[in-house]
Amino acid sequence: MTPHEGERTIVGRKAIPTVEYDLVVVGAGPGGSNAAAAALAGGLEVAQVDRARFPRIKPCAGGLTIKACESLALPLEPSLRSTFRAFEFNAWRGTERRFGYRSPILKMVLRPEFDNHLVERNRTSDRFRFFDGEPVVAIDRDSDRFVVRTPERELVARQLVGADGANGTTNRLFRIASPRRRAVAVEINLYRDRARIEPEPVPCFDFGFLPLGYGWIFPKDDHWSVGLYALSASGVDLRARLAEYVEARGFDVDGDPLDTFEAHTIPLGGHRLAVPDEPVYVVGDAGGFADALTGEGIFHALESGRLAGETAIRVARGEAKPRAYYRSLWRRVLPDTFLTHHLADRFYRDPARSLAWLAKPVLWRPIVHGYGRGATVVESLVRGPLYWATSLMRRTTSIVARTRPTRSA
Ligand SMILES: Cc1cc2nc3c(=O)[nH]c(=O)nc-3n(C[C@H](O)[C@H](O)[C@H](O)COP(=O)(O)OP(=O)(O)OC[C@H]3O[C@@H](n4cnc5c(N)ncnc54)[C@H](O)[C@@H]3O)c2cc1C
Repeated sequence: MTPHEGERTIVGRKAIPTVEYDLVVVGAGPGGSNAAAAALAGGLEVAQVDRARFPRIKPCAGGLTIKACESLALPLEPSLRSTFRAFEFNAWRGTERRFGYRSPILKMVLRPEFDNHLVERNRTSDRFRFFDGEPVVAIDRDSDRFVVRTPERELVARQLVGADGANGTTNRLFRIASPRRRAVAVEINLYRDRARIEPEPVPCFDFGFLPLGYGWIFPKDDHWSVGLYALSASGVDLRARLAEYVEARGFDVDGDPLDTFEAHTIPLGGHRLAVPDEPVYVVGDAGGFADALTGEGIFHALESGRLAGETAIRVARGEAKPRAYYRSLWRRVLPDTFLTHHLADRFYRDPARSLAWLAKPVLWRPIVHGYGRGATVVESLVRGPLYWATSLMRRTTSIVARTRPTRSA
């Protein structure tokens, strides 16, 4: 079946096409594209719209945990830039701890490439249409259909996914999720042809470099993603602090290290939901589902997107009510959103002390093993004793700690 093209609607003096689909997805980040992929796999006709022209810039370090990789409904390999079995959780000016797992624990992509690849994969389906460079300016409810308006067209569907990110229109209109706070993350890419650092780092998090935040270095094949995450950035000049971080970590850069500087917010604590009766599904950053401790949000976007796409199939077949989606979020997405939102302030009050707690084998073994196996934070803790025993018996995890107090901020 091809999407049904209806009559042209006159908006102002411009005649714009109205096309009807089973599902309209607003936003083409990982959340929206995974929702589209899952819905396409179930036979739905899907339109996806993004205000940006693709491929578009998306400030993001592109670190994928194993759970994120497993939630992806499309192949990851074409976008993969590097893979790691170890990462560091360091206390700035304190103890550096390198955690290892017997198999890959963190995978790296480049977000513009990754997001574009997901769209291109969905485009191979003749039941999919993608409209980029078209901001959604209004969404109306017309009897049992959503009418999604861009300056160029009207997209009509019985079901709607709002995957339009941190400042999205969908959640603002339907008031479903109420994120409690916004973190800020800033990032630069330091390309290897004009930057050097010795020794080559593994992905590392330097907690406490900022009050209520951390600095990171994520190595990729041809560059390092270097950035800062701040639960609250009020009164902090993140641009200046990032320049300090680059220098303090020992990068030697030709030219201006900040010439690729990008910043974006990450909504957090969106676990309280006003569940709607109509089939509208808020996904990823649009709902504020990310992990407040680390700012990880790709998993939450992919997993909630997948669940939204799968719910849309069941709703279209009359097998489920739309609110089933919001219940399903409590399986793997919202428990972490809730827990990390409540832990974050305590963790960042004294990062060195929190990391010392985390370094107790009863905590780090289950968490590292759980992450290596694709578990969420809550799943890792709940299955802790099992993961603890497995990690001991099979020697799956390792930790190396050393103190390097010589760095200055
Ligand atoms: C600097 C930085 C580093 C990060 N690093 C990591 C990391 O390493 N690992 C990790 O897991 N998470 C990371 N995150 C978080 C992660 O980037 C987000 O949680 C994730 O992108 C959320 O995906 P999403 O699909 O919900 O939204 P997005 O990826 O933000 O996609 C939303 C899309 O909606 C579109 N849109 C918005 N409004 C409209 C509109 N009105 N009409 C049409 N389209 C619209 C936007 O153009 C965008 O393409 C980082 C975030 C930042 C800022």
